[in-house]
Amino acid sequence: MTTLQGAGPASRRVLLSPPDVGPLEESYLIAALRSGWVAPAGPDLQAFEREIAERVGTTGALAVSSGTAALHLALLGVGVGPGDVVLVPTLTFVATANAVRYIGARPVFVDCDPQTGNVDVQLVAALIERLRSRGERVGAVVPVDMFGSCADYDALVPLCVDAEVPLVEDAAEALGASYQGRAAGSFGRVGALSFNGNKIMTTSGGGMLVSDDAALLARARHLSTQAREPTPHYEHRETGYNYRLSNLLAALGRAQLVRLDGMIARRRQLRDRYAKLFAPVPGVRLLGAEDTGSNCWLTVITVERERCGWRADDLAAHLSERDIETRPVWKPMHLQPVHAGAESLLTGAAERLFADGLTLPSGSALSEPQVGRVLAAIDEFLTLGAGGPAA
Ligand SMILES: *Cc1c(COP(=O)(O)O)cnc(C)c1O
Repeated sequence: MTTLQGAGPASRRVLLSPPDVGPLEESYLIAALRSGWVAPAGPDLQAFEREIAERVGTTGALAVSSGTAALHLALLGVGVGPGDVVLVPTLTFVATANAVRYIGARPVFVDCDPQTGNVDVQLVAALIERLRSRGERVGAVVPVDMFGSCADYDALVPLCVDAEVPLVEDAAEALGASYQGRAAGSFGRVGALSFNGNKIMTTSGGGMLVSDDAALLARARHLSTQAREPTPHYEHRETGYNYRLSNLLAALGRAQLVRLDGMIARRRQLRDRYAKLFAPVPGVRLLGAEDTGSNCWLTVITVERERCGWRADDLAAHLSERDIETRPVWKPMHLQPVHAGAESLLTGAAERLFADGLTLPSGSALSEPQVGRVLAAIDEFLTLGAGGPAA
C-alpha cells in the first residue's frame, strides 16, 4: 500500500521496523482533528480502549502515553511496593526493569529458554522459592512475550497461582499474537501493550493496560491523570502521573488496529521468506520459528559460527554496507550498567543469544523492492561470504 514515508535518504536505507501508516491513518487523524476532540480525552480514546480490549479478550483497557507507563501502572496496580522484588527476564528491553525501579522495588533477572528467548519457567520457580526463603516479598512476575511470541503460560500461570504471586504480562511486543488460542496480553492480572513507533502497530508513542480487573483499571486511570479528585477545583491526595494518551493519537491507533491483521500477515510472509533462504544453511535458525501464534514482530536468526563459518556480526556488517539495518537482540539486563548489582539467576542462554542473534528487517511497511534488496544481499553473503571472512 502507499505509505506516507517521505522520499529522500530514508527511503534508500532499509530500516528494521519503521512505522506503517498510510491513507487510512491520515483519514482517521483528520477526522479526529476536525471533530474538535484533540486532547486529552475524547470519543476516539474511549473507542480505542474498547476495541483493544475486545481484540485482547479482556473486559477493560486503559490507554496511556507509552508501554513503559503501562508497565509502571500495572505494577502499581497489582500492589508492588518499595522494597519488593520483582522477577523480570534478563532478555528484554530496559523498560521492563525500569518500571520496577520507578516504584523503588528491585528487579531480579531470570535467564531465558535458548529455543524461544522467553523466560525459563524452571528458573522462575526456583527463584521464587529462594527469595522467599530469605524473607523477601515477591511483588510480581513479569514475563515478556519476546519478539511477539508468547511466554510459556501453560507453566507460568499455574506457577504464579500456586505461589500467589501476581503475573503482569509485558506484551509490548506481542499485540495480535496468541497462545493456545488466547490473545497475548490476557494471561496475567494485567497486561501491558506498547504502540511505540517500531512496534507491530503504532500511535507514534503510546501504550495500553488490558485487564479483567475493573478496580485495578479504575485506580490506574486515576493515577494516570495526576490523581485528580472529582472536584471543581484541582484536588490531589496522592502523587499521580501524567500518563494519559491523547484522543488524536487514539484515532491513529484505531486506524492501525483496522489494519493489524494485514500488517501481521505481511510480517509473517517476510519471516517465511527468511526461513526459506536460511533453511539450507547449517547452524542458522529462526528464533521461535515453531510458534504459529507469533505476531512475527521481529525475525531473529541465531548463528552458530562453528557450523556455518561466519558470525552474526559478519552478516550485520555486510548488510550495513548495503544500507540495510539489522540489530543484535536485546543486551541482557544483568549486563546493563544501569542495572549492575541486581541479583540474577542465569544459565548463559541470554548472553549466547546476545552474541549469536541478529534481528533482520521485519517491518510491514517494507516495500517489495526493499525486501528484494534485503533477500538478494543475504543471498550474496551466503554465496560469496559463506565459509566466510577468514577467522
Ligand atoms: C517497547 C517495549 C516496552 C516499552 O514500550 P514503550 O512504548 O516504548 O514505552 C516495554 N517492554 C518491552 C519488552 C518492549 O519491547
